[in-house]
Amino acid sequence: MLEATLNFKLLEMCSKCGACFSICPSATHIPGYDPRAVIKDILAGTYEKWLSSAHIWQCLECHFCLEICYQHYGFENAMTALRTVAAKKGMHPPQVKRGWDMFIKTSRLGEPTLPARKKLGLPEPTASGADEFKKLHALLKDAREGHKTE
Ligand code: SF4
Ligand code: SF4
Repeated sequence: MLEATLNFKLLEMCSKCGACFSICPSATHIPGYDPRAVIKDILAGTYEKWLSSAHIWQCLECHFCLEICYQHYGFENAMTALRTVAAKKGMHPPQVKRGWDMFIKTSRLGEPTLPARKKLGLPEPTASGADEFKKLHALLKDAREGHKTE
């Protein structure tokens, strides 16, 4: 399954490198967070245990690993691929589902706190674009369903 989304040749190189581990903020601050171990298990075909692990959701997608990577690949690709598999299997944390539902409904991941914005002298947020997003989402859904029945 992961072969379709990950470049195993680059991951092989990654497993021999480990250079970005020292600048990864999650690795620095979260005990047990170690994409090197995840990559090792992906390459060995024994990654299933990570699907239920909180660690795959702790990647900040800060792209530090991508930026310094001589392959321009990065730890984050492995973490993203596992999150995608976990989500497809319904193994994502409940707050991810809540975030998705909120995004579909409002096209935002959270509502701005108006009193806090006022206190900070920030202007009122612009309209969310939820209507346009809903239309786009419906079009994509139709296209996907049409594709399935072809
Ligand atoms: S993108 Fe994820 S894996 Fe890469 S440095 Fe940031 S937190 Fe670490
Ligand atoms: S992502 Fe790049 S820098 Fe980081 S360990 Fe892999 S090959 Fe090395």
